[in-house]
Amino acid sequence: MPDAGCEEPESVAGACPRLRDTVPVRVLVVEDERRLAAAVKRGLEAEGFVVDLAHDGPTGLYLAREGGYDSVVLDIMLPGLSGYKICERLRAERNWVPVLILSAKDGEYDQADGLDLGADDYLTKPFSYVVLAARLRALLRRGAVPRPAVLRAGDLSLDPAARVVRRGSAVISLTAREFALLEYLLRRAGEVVPKAELLSHVWEATDEIADLNVVEVYAGYLRRKIDAPFGRHALRTVRGAGYLLAADGG
Ligand code: CA
Repeated sequence: MPDAGCEEPESVAGACPRLRDTVPVRVLVVEDERRLAAAVKRGLEAEGFVVDLAHDGPTGLYLAREGGYDSVVLDIMLPGLSGYKICERLRAERNWVPVLILSAKDGEYDQADGLDLGADDYLTKPFSYVVLAARLRALLRRGAVPRPAVLRAGDLSLDPAARVVRRGSAVISLTAREFALLEYLLRRAGEVVPKAELLSHVWEATDEIADLNVVEVYAGYLRRKIDAPFGRHALRTVRGAGYLLAADGG
């Protein structure tokens, strides 16, 4: 009678084949649509998971850092901080908790972006909880796999987790601000990025810097490190528009 164990409360975990793979693991679900979040929680709990919810980005990041979860499910569009950013920050802190991203079906976001930022898997909404549970189990079996999201443009690479920049095999030493500027430009490689955007993202609103010249100064510093010593020309000034980091590395 192979199914008898499923009826015995004391022996559920050990004897029920259906539940053997669902030994309770703790999952954090970060989803701002509360009804969907509650439904995901119920669905995953029915599959044997223990589920906590966060409804905004900063809370999600805090819990993901501090809560010791076995896996994290991230919506993308979240108040305060996107799912992408949460994932990126966790990986930058060398936190390799398995991350599954829930993406909208409208194609506004590219699933590849999430994987580039260090997510382990993604699922497109709408999804079934059975499929979500199966994907989570697969991630849990693999465990926490280091997934540093290394950014590349030709032979120029930046590893946000290890905080290492290389041109070919040569390691380039950058200051924190130069590193942040290069990281932002690499994420937008091949695109013209306005100076004002660089100023607001790399120097952040809290800094009392209202002078776009600081971007020019740091672009000059970067060139002296990532381009000039190698006879390259990756970081280009687009007159009147901003800067472009050549996607091929210059
Ligand atoms: Ca959302």
